[in-house]
Amino acid sequence: MSRKPFIAGNWKMHNTVEESVNLIEGLKAAKNKNNADIMVAPSFTSLSAVVRASAGTGFKVAAQDCYYEDKGAFTSQVSPVQVKGTGATHVILGHSERRSLFGDTNEVLNKKVAAALNHGLVIVFCVGETLEQREGGKTEEVIKDQLVNGLKGFSAEQLKDLVIAYEPVWAIGTGKTATPEQAQDTHKAIRAMLAEQLGKEFADGVRILYGGSVKADNVDAIMAKEDVDGVLVGGQSLIAEKFNRIIDYN
Ligand code: PEP
Repeated sequence: MSRKPFIAGNWKMHNTVEESVNLIEGLKAAKNKNNADIMVAPSFTSLSAVVRASAGTGFKVAAQDCYYEDKGAFTSQVSPVQVKGTGATHVILGHSERRSLFGDTNEVLNKKVAAALNHGLVIVFCVGETLEQREGGKTEEVIKDQLVNGLKGFSAEQLKDLVIAYEPVWAIGTGKTATPEQAQDTHKAIRAMLAEQLGKEFADGVRILYGGSVKADNVDAIMAKEDVDGVLVGGQSLIAEKFNRIIDYN
């Protein structure tokens, strides 16, 4: 089945508003020869400016997280309503840094998924195992738990725009990339889990991105794998020439 490629940049806690806008200007040089969906996820502070700077490019703009309440006394949190108000259309949920550093459990994420869907945000839902879990043979068990509990209660119809990002924790920001074969094997397993959970039609159509030290010199081999539909890129998405080369993978 042909699925539209999806190339995403997670800028994490980098870039002022001005730097964010400059980066968007640099990304306009990409040819997008693979006709991919291109998404950037700046900090909350830069969302509005990045949405404005992206006008006419087709770039999707995402928040890196959102809270599950619409409004209220939740100092420092940002709601899906506020994200929508910036003009952003997407949100990353369940990034491993959110899970490990900020207490985003599967149960919390399930509430965030509900809130984001409720406000029509497209979710990029991250899953992945630690090195210890991989070495202990627990990769599939961990990911299944993340999918079953994080997406609990939603139908294939409600999740029709969902994008999954498989990001092995041991490969994020470490320079260690999963081999293309490891990525393919895990993506295939994820697709099978989703078929069981949400049906074959959903599983065949859902885009599964690989994330973890993706760079210009490994993107081609990773993207060549059948069940890899795109990449979620951290460090290398902060430099326009490098991210443009990833967008225009061969
Ligand atoms: C990420 O932050 O999602 C990520 C994959 O980071 P990096 O590409 O830097 O490993």
